[in-house]
Amino acid sequence: MENLTPMMRQYLELKESYKDCILFFRLGDFYEMFFEDALTAARELEITLTGRDCGLAERAPMCGVPYHAADNYISKLIDKGYKVAIGEQVEDPAVAKGIVRRDVVRVITPGTLIDPHLLPEKENNYIMSIFLGKSGIGITFADISTGELRTTEFSGSKANSSLLDEVAKISPKEIIMNDTEYHGTSVETTIKSFLSINLYIFDTWAFENNFAEKKIKDHYHILSLDGLGLVDKPNSVAATGALLEYLQQTQKSTLNHMNHVKFYTSEQYMILDKFTRRNLELTETMRDKVKKGSLLWVLDRTSTAMGARILRRWVEEPLRDIQAIVTRLEVVDELKNNLLLREDLKELLNQVYDLERLAGRIAYGNANGRDLIALKLSLEVLPQIKNLLNSIHADGLKAILAQIDTLEDIYHLIHNAIVENPPLGIKEGGLIKDSYDPEIAVLREAITNGKTWITNLEHQERQSTGIKSLKISYNKVFGYYIEITKSNIGLAPKHYERKQTLANAERYIIPELKEIESKILGAEEKIVELEYQVFIQVRNEISQYTERIQTTASALAQLDGLLSFAEVSDKSGYVKPEISQDDRLEIINGRHPVVERSMAFGSFVANDTSLDTGKNRFAIITGPNMAGKSTYMRQVALIVLMAQIGCFVPADQATIGIVDRIFTRVGASDDLSQGQSTFMVEMSELANILNNATTKSLIILDEIGRGTSTYDGLSIAWAVVEYISNHENIGARTLFATHYHELTELEGIIEGVNNYCISVKEHGDDIIFLRKIIPGGADQSYGIQVAKLAGITDAVITRAKQILQELEANDINRSKLPQRVNKPSKKGREEQYQITMFSDSNEDILNELKSIDIVNITPMEAMNRLYKLVNMTKK
Ligand code: ADP
Ligand code: MG
Repeated sequence: MENLTPMMRQYLELKESYKDCILFFRLGDFYEMFFEDALTAARELEITLTGRDCGLAERAPMCGVPYHAADNYISKLIDKGYKVAIGEQVEDPAVAKGIVRRDVVRVITPGTLIDPHLLPEKENNYIMSIFLGKSGIGITFADISTGELRTTEFSGSKANSSLLDEVAKISPKEIIMNDTEYHGTSVETTIKSFLSINLYIFDTWAFENNFAEKKIKDHYHILSLDGLGLVDKPNSVAATGALLEYLQQTQKSTLNHMNHVKFYTSEQYMILDKFTRRNLELTETMRDKVKKGSLLWVLDRTSTAMGARILRRWVEEPLRDIQAIVTRLEVVDELKNNLLLREDLKELLNQVYDLERLAGRIAYGNANGRDLIALKLSLEVLPQIKNLLNSIHADGLKAILAQIDTLEDIYHLIHNAIVENPPLGIKEGGLIKDSYDPEIAVLREAITNGKTWITNLEHQERQSTGIKSLKISYNKVFGYYIEITKSNIGLAPKHYERKQTLANAERYIIPELKEIESKILGAEEKIVELEYQVFIQVRNEISQYTERIQTTASALAQLDGLLSFAEVSDKSGYVKPEISQDDRLEIINGRHPVVERSMAFGSFVANDTSLDTGKNRFAIITGPNMAGKSTYMRQVALIVLMAQIGCFVPADQATIGIVDRIFTRVGASDDLSQGQSTFMVEMSELANILNNATTKSLIILDEIGRGTSTYDGLSIAWAVVEYISNHENIGARTLFATHYHELTELEGIIEGVNNYCISVKEHGDDIIFLRKIIPGGADQSYGIQVAKLAGITDAVITRAKQILQELEANDINRSKLPQRVNKPSKKGREEQYQITMFSDSNEDILNELKSIDIVNITPMEAMNRLYKLVNMTKK
């Protein structure tokens, strides 16, 4: 090591503290990376790997990126899950003795981005801290670009699954977690593989209670945790303290814009697990993972980025508190009915920039002049917004109005100090108004006067020399000079001192010119420095009001979100739902908000729904493929969800008895990404429902059991109906679409189970989908007709019909078991269509079947008989 060059020694010392990061080491105009980091970066960024003498026998691998283009490279590395430590020169090379000192000024991680170029505008960028403790789990998450910070905790046997639900809801870009032997490993692997989020194990000591508590108290300058509601919340405290520590370590900033930690409980919100979120396509579509085609896409008509973010959060976090829901609905009602007010508000909101992030950047100390002007322009409309809201009635709007501070002092400060069109940089001057600072005004005047003086001098010299083309110009090397073309140089006076000879001109200086030049240049230098200082002063002053800006920003975000609800509700013919605490779910002419949007107006067929936890608790829905079963069930779930986020719903009328969770499961979904079999996935999802659903839940099961053999599948489906519909187990409102027509036999046998089907009309050889849901089971599955509609070749369709006829000719009711199929008449290729379901030797099975008295058998007995049958087939 002794042989190392001093620079390399400095590098390695710094790297030692940032082992988990890629260290960007500033050398001149480049950030250089060495050794392992260089190999990684060269590979990931596809940049050239070189080497550098470092004093050792072998050259150090090295690669670098120009500092002005670093953002791009950094964001690529962050995207790939790396952390980047930025090592800068931290002393002036001019005054440094020996090698310039360098230190890490910031660590950029996926969850701590603040640069507006790297952040999606309409989404939050969360970092989460998870504490897995002996008594429970604490989580805290933050968006450091907006200053939001929230925490909650769970305990008991379901803590792990609650944790995963929260992680799925918040979908942070980065997680830090304590290193633990308890339940750590499974949580860790689930998060890493299943939710694919960057997860880092962070120093265990940072989660220790004494440390964490002190950290929180120091951050908020408080003596007790009382005011934050974190007394007796040790797990939340641990997670929060560690997060603050991590943020300080990486951001190297006071983070004083993170000024509220809000404690919430997961019971405040409707719980939605990862599958349900994905299935209902709340914020992105299942297949392409894009917003277009999701519920959010339908609902988002916000004008500001803040509004878009809050709306997204509302969709991810439906409410359960009836009062909170009704408060939002009343606001939507009032705004929906007042088109003029709505238009006026929208127009004003269109002029509002991202106040949350502007406030964040100001507090962070990286806002420029344009940011301050954006802030000013946003604040300008506040008095008008307040004025418009003066005439409103809804309590929710009054609360918003009360939260809006017009922030005139900040407006005036910016207005007085900052010019209307400042440059991007803050170190080049041109930022501060003359009128704001007398010294700046004097300097500016000196510059202007100096330039006038030079113009006059030019005029004067032309006259005295008689050279009309004489001119005075400026360049960086010589400063101001007099230029005379070749043909006139004979006329140049003696006291002109020649400085430079060009092909067709000579350049001169004279003492007077140099004198005024030094005045102008000195003033320019001074003014740039002065303006920078004044700017920082102004910015610091505003940063003291961060909290006021944030409060107003939050009010505007809510207003924007609710306006958006009002707007879609009005434009799409939604109605205000009745919200009730009981178990009733009545929807008259409900529609699927997204499917309806993608169809010609009025062509979506509306359907009713009536569910409760009594006689109508379990709907078994049958009908051919493509009839509309899945659409119908999702529509019910979405209507409930929309009501609970405080939006109107696509229906003629709706009464929504509040739901604590929505579960949706789709059979044999093609989720092969985890390497588990589809059936295994389906069953573990199902297990989650059976373990977590309550009477107040809404359960949507779409073709559960499809992923296995018919008998296994049917048996499971059957047992699931029994289990869920039973009040002693769950008794929740449930919609179950199935292709097992056998299940329709449960109506009348199990209380609360009813059959529905989606009607189709036969039309000659074809079928027409009517899309209307009606009571009763479907009598046919029309599989062949649907296959035909899908474009299966005629040869196959004809043959399929033939087989079907043969099956039916054997007098086998398709709700019972098929017996035997005659061989196809044609030989050759078609032989492969041959199906032999049962051989004659299975006569026993048939006899066993015939002996079942389906009307008088108990479900349990049925299951046993079925089990026996299944076993017989295996022999
Ligand atoms: P299933 O689940 O019964 O196979 P889907 O719910 O997938 O059927 O519906 C198939 C297609 O039918 C949907 O993609 C949609 O275009 C259309 N559809 C479903 N329900 C309706 C409806 N109520 N009105 C109009 N079209 C509908
Ligand atoms: Mg379906």
